[in-house]
Amino acid sequence: MNVYDSEQISKGLKPLQYKMTSSPETADLIIVNTCAIREKAEQKVFSFLGRLARLKRKKPGLILGVGGCVAQQEGLNILKRVPYLDLVFGTHAIGRLPGMIERIEAKKCRIVDVEMPEGPEGIDESVFSVDTDDRDRVASFVTIMQGCDNYCTYCVVPFVRGREVSRSPEKIVGEIRGLVESGIKEVTLLGQNVNSFGKKEGLCSFSELLSLINEIDGLLRIRFTTSHPKDLSDDLIYAFKNLDKLCSHIHLPVQSGSDRVLKRMNRKYSSDYYLAKVDKLRNICSDIAITSDFIVGFPGETEDDFNETLDLIKTVQYDNIFAFKYSDRPNAPSALFRHKISEQDKKDRLIELLKLQKYYTRRSNELLVGSTQSILVEGLSKKQVKTDANSENIHQNIQWTGRTSTNKIVNFIPNNDTSHDENFSGKIINVRIEKALSHSLQGILILDSRSPIR
Ligand code: SAH
Ligand code: SF4
Repeated sequence: MNVYDSEQISKGLKPLQYKMTSSPETADLIIVNTCAIREKAEQKVFSFLGRLARLKRKKPGLILGVGGCVAQQEGLNILKRVPYLDLVFGTHAIGRLPGMIERIEAKKCRIVDVEMPEGPEGIDESVFSVDTDDRDRVASFVTIMQGCDNYCTYCVVPFVRGREVSRSPEKIVGEIRGLVESGIKEVTLLGQNVNSFGKKEGLCSFSELLSLINEIDGLLRIRFTTSHPKDLSDDLIYAFKNLDKLCSHIHLPVQSGSDRVLKRMNRKYSSDYYLAKVDKLRNICSDIAITSDFIVGFPGETEDDFNETLDLIKTVQYDNIFAFKYSDRPNAPSALFRHKISEQDKKDRLIELLKLQKYYTRRSNELLVGSTQSILVEGLSKKQVKTDANSENIHQNIQWTGRTSTNKIVNFIPNNDTSHDENFSGKIINVRIEKALSHSLQGILILDSRSPIR
């Protein structure tokens, strides 16, 4: 979501003649887009801003702004800690940013805008315009809803992103059509809980939205994130079978395997309920990849609770997971819960959990060795194959990268029968998987690539 917001920010600043630069030293304007989800993310913001003080001293004309969730959360308070800021703007102010920058340029003033209008009128459609100049990208994020109404007890999102609100299906489909015209082949639909899309506003359901998007000519793949287990409907599960463009991957954050902890997190499901959803997903779509989020060391989490989380991982055997040490967040009810877990215990639990998952991640990759996978190619891989350094044919070193429908990264080299000048970007091709690494796969393009399997 933050990557997407940063894209909207840079797109909005183009008409003001700002261009991206790779080094802060050469910048005339620095926008720090922030995340407040965990304490560590917030600490990073302040240490980064501290490092920018030197640049601001050297170049007083430099405009320095902070946006995103930490800006929303702290508002004016940020200026107490970082007095040299020119601009603080919240999560709903991205559309107003160009105007604010113009005012700062003209009047050398300081602006704080953390207003958060709620409801459908709070959606600023102007930020969703398509950048038709940007023709290099294959995949794009698309916001389908903002905010969250779930109030998990540990979470800051409802406080910094506001109440849940869905965009109209027509606007979403219109944006995706525009993206496809500009060369996009894959979209990832974004929302804190896509499963409750449109419910409040009486719009179509999320699975109906997916069907509409599936009809868009030229679009090859659809992904989405995130899906709350409590609202995962049968319709959505069947969409994995019925919609040819919907990728075989679901991110289904469970957070904990202990019912006691889940209750105190206000997640509104039990581990049995979750496991039944996983079974159903795998019955309907046998190759579906399942990933998840975990929090370790939630207040009051006992060794037994933690072991139940490890048991759940062993039962589900995820393709991959994200796991985090619990941290108190402003306004989140669990900040006031007693029986906090020590930093050391949180660290130990995180290490143990990640070690267990490492085995399953690697195994899920190894199971693909020898198979043929359909890859949507995203471009040249950053890493080039170096083994052929003495080869006379420099093109032998070219390596491409893409993803399987199950969201696994595959780096591959073209075979000897393909033209070395061929541009695979944006195409779905077949790759034979030769090797599994911890976080990616390596393969070789196979001959019948131009008639891809799906
Ligand atoms: N809406 C998504 C999650 C968004 S936040 C969902 O409900 O699944 C991404 C992840 O950050 C969460 O899934 C959770 O694992 C983690 N997280 C959120 N608040 C946290 C906190 N206070 N401490 C540690 N991790 C947290
Ligand atoms: Fe936070 Fe829960 Fe909403 Fe996800 S569903 S954003 S964890 S409150």
